[in-house]
Amino acid sequence: MTDCLFCKILAGDIPANKVYETERVLAFRDIDPKAPTHVLIIPKTHIATLNDVGPEHNADIVEIFAAAREIARQEDIAESGYRTVFNCNADGGQAVYHIHLHLLGGRHLAWPPG
Ligand code: AMP
Ligand code: ZN
Repeated sequence: MTDCLFCKILAGDIPANKVYETERVLAFRDIDPKAPTHVLIIPKTHIATLNDVGPEHNADIVEIFAAAREIARQEDIAESGYRTVFNCNADGGQAVYHIHLHLLGGRHLAWPPG
């Protein structure tokens, strides 16, 4: 996907502040953080939205959440708490169409979100 921002990060064409990587997933700091910890976890496979996830992606989804748990430990927010979010399509506030799990923490997060 040559016109996908996160595929360009995966290809090394755009720099990113990486915090975690496996064969299947990459995690890097959000460029416009909404909390002291704001990390995006993406599959190395291009998947546009959560609606496009199928059984063939099961291992990717499992690894994305395993990454979230591990990064939360690394960032020392596992016990204080954190939030994970997939935004989907326009009403969900999705801006980049390559699925990414937001991992947010390091402050109290209000509920419901705006
Ligand atoms: P979403 O609105 O769920 O699609 O989230 C997209 C996220 O990507 C936003 O939180 C942006 O701040 C973040 N973002 C956009 N460009 C970059 C970039 N080059 N590096 C890191 N994060 C980015
Ligand atoms: Zn992509």
